Amino acid sequence: MTARIREFLRTRRPEGPCLVVDLDVVREKYMSFARAMPDTRVFYAVKANPAPEVLSLLADLGSCFDCASIPEIEMALAAGATPDRISFGNTIKKERDVARAHQIGIRLFAVDCEAEVEKIARSAPGARVFCRILSDGADAEWPLSRKFGCDPEMAPAVLEHAHRLGLEAYGVSFHVGSQQRNTEAWDGALASAASIFREMAERGITLKMVNMGGGFPTQYLRQVPEVGAYGQSITSAIRKHFGNRLPETIIEPGRGMVGGAGVIKAEVVLISKKSVKDDVRWVYLDIGKFGGLAETMDEAIRYPILTERDTDEKTPCVIAGPTCDSVDVLYEKTPYDLPVSLAIGDEVLIEGTGAYTTTYSAVAFNGFAPLKAYVI
Ligand SMILES: *Cc1c(COP(=O)(O)O)cnc(C)c1O
Repeated sequence: MTARIREFLRTRRPEGPCLVVDLDVVREKYMSFARAMPDTRVFYAVKANPAPEVLSLLADLGSCFDCASIPEIEMALAAGATPDRISFGNTIKKERDVARAHQIGIRLFAVDCEAEVEKIARSAPGARVFCRILSDGADAEWPLSRKFGCDPEMAPAVLEHAHRLGLEAYGVSFHVGSQQRNTEAWDGALASAASIFREMAERGITLKMVNMGGGFPTQYLRQVPEVGAYGQSITSAIRKHFGNRLPETIIEPGRGMVGGAGVIKAEVVLISKKSVKDDVRWVYLDIGKFGGLAETMDEAIRYPILTERDTDEKTPCVIAGPTCDSVDVLYEKTPYDLPVSLAIGDEVLIEGTGAYTTTYSAVAFNGFAPLKAYVI
């Protein structure tokens, strides 16, 4: 919670539920990434929060942008980024979108298999491609499964195929899993990247770039390391695996850039018990999984929730959203301690909600409007 957000909520009294994003926090985060890894370019992952104000601020600060679709590319351009500061980082692209991106001037594309390389060779001839490799996402609170990336052993064949088709085999990318609390998690993937660089050199192809993805955490309930600690660990891992032939490097922070900049104002709609014998109260808010808090899926992300009665005694509650879908429960396996004095109509503030909320909010499930956002 920042003083500016507190002041905005006090004076403007916006109708909830709504997200308030403090641009000062985004600016500070960008600066801390730039300081922690001065030789690494930042490609902000647009999907985390594509608010025009956020994108414009980052464009002004010199950030580049990792985009997953043509609309995201258009948003980055509208914010002032030039095409050379944009990558098309999704490994799953329609060929006509590749052609459109190429027409716009985008020259950097992600691939993880030969079929995707062929689309790019046909529709974005001469472009740079980097091959995404699988990473197990161990220690991440929001792991990314096996959906993206190929086995590191397969990457040289994919990159050589790109080279033969007239593309520039540019580098390797990986993502160590989102909300990665282990600062050492990049080491193994950097070792794989370095071995792919060596294998390609033996094939006469010089790779240039390592894209180290996102994964940098937001402070939720549990303490997380500072950006500087990630910078130190990553820098020493690069030196360890690449020696004095350091590659060009980029990072793609999403959550770590904007998560801590946002607070959701919400309201208690109902408090009840399911049986007279129950100890646990059910607290229903006016926001849930469909209103922007989708990352409470499997209770993976545990947001800090503030009330006006936090000095009172607390007891465990199940927290749920307002919609008529039974999966719209935020915390039940591990109940959440809330004040016994909490009352219907009370305001609650949900911290760390600047990333993956507005974009995950449903259009109008049960008639509830998508999450409103104020960027200040
Ligand atoms: C989502 C995504 C990111 C951002 O990940 P965070 O964990 O939010 O930092 C970065 N790169 C790619 C390719 C992504 O898909």
